[in-house]
Amino acid sequence: MTARILIIEDEEPLTLLLRYNLEAEGYEVDTSARGDEGDLRLKESPPDLAVIDWMLPGLSGIELIRRLRTRPETRQLPVIMLTARGEEGERVRGLATGADDYIVKPFSVPELLARIRALLRRVKPERVAEVLVAGDIELDREKKRVSRSGREVPLGPTEFRLLEFLMQSPGRVFSREQLLNGVWGRDIYIDERTVDVHVGRLRKGLNRGRASDPIRTVRGAGYAFNDRFGKGA
Ligand code: CA
Repeated sequence: MTARILIIEDEEPLTLLLRYNLEAEGYEVDTSARGDEGDLRLKESPPDLAVIDWMLPGLSGIELIRRLRTRPETRQLPVIMLTARGEEGERVRGLATGADDYIVKPFSVPELLARIRALLRRVKPERVAEVLVAGDIELDREKKRVSRSGREVPLGPTEFRLLEFLMQSPGRVFSREQLLNGVWGRDIYIDERTVDVHVGRLRKGLNRGRASDPIRTVRGAGYAFNDRFGKGA
């Protein structure tokens, strides 16, 4: 079962980036650009987790959280608050108001994704898959281990995250830029060819002595985890 996440944030480029990356992880995403509208959404159909910006038109993130905590259906809702740099002094107030976690802008997408996963795991463990399986490959998110046909595959941390990212959305083709955003984070400048180097290392580790390669290179587009892998392809 997939988790539904509501993002209440008025910076459209950030909302789009988060939507893209959360959907790539298999979450269902709903967004709102205003505090008062977000409040209505939370009343109408409470999500499994909400990401709420501090400064919002209509109703502030703080007031929004205060209100949702007074309603029984959202009293326990996991909430991550986004704050801008300089509001750190008010972070404590944010947490006291009832957010479960907060993250300071600008943040890296992989970090927010990790916080979301950690929070969901804590409150709704059944909604987060700990082990991704495709054919004879198993990736254990908790233990940070990958095995193929029962044998451990030694991978570096970047190769692990790259495989995790690709396995989350079998069949979906990611450009090098999308992989950089999703695996390395958008605030880090890395040459796109670095992606090729790490895909090469990942393949070497996974495919040692084997013919079947689960990773597809899509010419002119990027890379994908073969969604037919282990299904006779
Ligand atoms: Ca804002």
